[in-house]
Amino acid sequence: MSRHNEMSFRESTGIMFNRAVKLMDLPPGVVEKIRVCNATYTVRFGVRLRGDIHTFTGYRSVHSEHMEPVKGGIRYALSVNQDEVEALAALMTYKCALVDTPFGGSKGGLRIDPREWDEHEMEQITRRFTYELVKRDLIDPAQNVPAPDLGTGEREMAWISDQYARMNTTDINARACVTGKPINAGGIRGRVEATGRGVQYALREIFRHPEDIRAAGLDGTLDGKRVIVQGLGNVGYHAAKFLSEEDGCRIIGVLEYNGCIRNPDGINIEDLKQHLILHGSPEGFAGGTILPADAPLMEENCDILIPAALEGVINLENADRIAARMIVEAANGPVTSGADRILQKKGVVVIPDMYANAGGVTVSYFEWVKNLSHIRFGRLQRRQEEESHRILIEEMERMTGQAFDQDFKRRYIQGAGELELVRSGLDDTMRGAYQDMREVWHARDDVGDLRTAAYLVSIGKVAASYQAKGI
Ligand code: NAD
Repeated sequence: MSRHNEMSFRESTGIMFNRAVKLMDLPPGVVEKIRVCNATYTVRFGVRLRGDIHTFTGYRSVHSEHMEPVKGGIRYALSVNQDEVEALAALMTYKCALVDTPFGGSKGGLRIDPREWDEHEMEQITRRFTYELVKRDLIDPAQNVPAPDLGTGEREMAWISDQYARMNTTDINARACVTGKPINAGGIRGRVEATGRGVQYALREIFRHPEDIRAAGLDGTLDGKRVIVQGLGNVGYHAAKFLSEEDGCRIIGVLEYNGCIRNPDGINIEDLKQHLILHGSPEGFAGGTILPADAPLMEENCDILIPAALEGVINLENADRIAARMIVEAANGPVTSGADRILQKKGVVVIPDMYANAGGVTVSYFEWVKNLSHIRFGRLQRRQEEESHRILIEEMERMTGQAFDQDFKRRYIQGAGELELVRSGLDDTMRGAYQDMREVWHARDDVGDLRTAAYLVSIGKVAASYQAKGI
């Protein structure tokens, strides 16, 4: 428990799990098997840096192995601890089940402030951490496959992949040991932006159901909706960029750890991102009003609030003051279990993390399959598809004596490459998972929110998997 009698992240996740299983008819033994975290490995290792030995603490937690490999990101932050890693590993189990990626749940973390170390030092630290995990099969294409999370990205994934390959020189599937790699190191097109893209696809799907957005007191389309985003990192930046550039959303507020920006007319996200990359803080950005980091911008009136940074940011202390009508949990665990209850009473619709940010693991799944099949998606069929489209178009033009519009022709003939296929697979996944959740949400009187519905769907799948295995 913390201030305001708030539960820890793990306790909070446990409470949400318990709320859901109470509504299910599962044998208590199966419930307990799903609830517990199977194992957490803690490692303390030293790296010689700047003439001294520095000791770092890292974790890799495996929540459920009902399917293998297990999957989950590696987080670099000073706040990393066992409780947090275990909560995140549990969420991975439910997330993978919800979106039908054939993985168990895992998560890793290293207690470090990446801003304190230069690139070469980060590489040494990451390689050493990887060595410790590979040695214990906690990184392995068949058993445990990490991905990026807070504080890590393509760069770290490339080091992890290379370190694994050095330690397993005859493993032909070595590249499948981690996802979120750069393209030139076995990555897949569309992975970097996948989680933000998934947030966009999730919102598009919700807005296809007028009665669902009415539950939040909203109507119409995404066009013109006022959005506030916390965290302009990988997930927040891509979500905000796509929603503003492609769906007409107005990003009226952005919160970062060192300052906030407000602009009721809409912030140009690309301009702000470039400013942050160049200057490290919102200070001096001309496209909005700069506010201090602790400004209560999250509580301002808006249609959609997208927390995309840390857990526990909407809690018992501020939940009452949240004015947003809809909250999309792009981050993992941004709403505590206590706050969840308050928001539900206020009629705020919360799109739960295990669904909202599942775009990352979905495209990671595609990357893992690509690595195991050793061929880029679309490589075999793209030109063949184009050829058959071209034949059809030409024949229709010949028969009618009319020419198609050049732009239509180009778009219709074009065969799907890797990026188009990844987007199509991601969109299909986000639509399908939402429909599964909303079916439960609407069909059952005892299910009042999408989070409980999501738990019901995913726990049902995990339970079926354990029962099929005969344990
Ligand atoms: P990131 O490190 O790329 O970005 C995090 C951003 O939040 C940074 O811009 C950082 O400056 C900002 N931030 C940190 N502390 C803040 C604070 N106190 N207030 C406001 N902003 C703050 O991380 P990410 O990969 O975008 O992950 C963000 C969240 O999304 C995490 O909860 C993570 O678990 C979740 N997530 C990430 C992925 C992925 O594919 N990267 C997938 C699923 C879920």
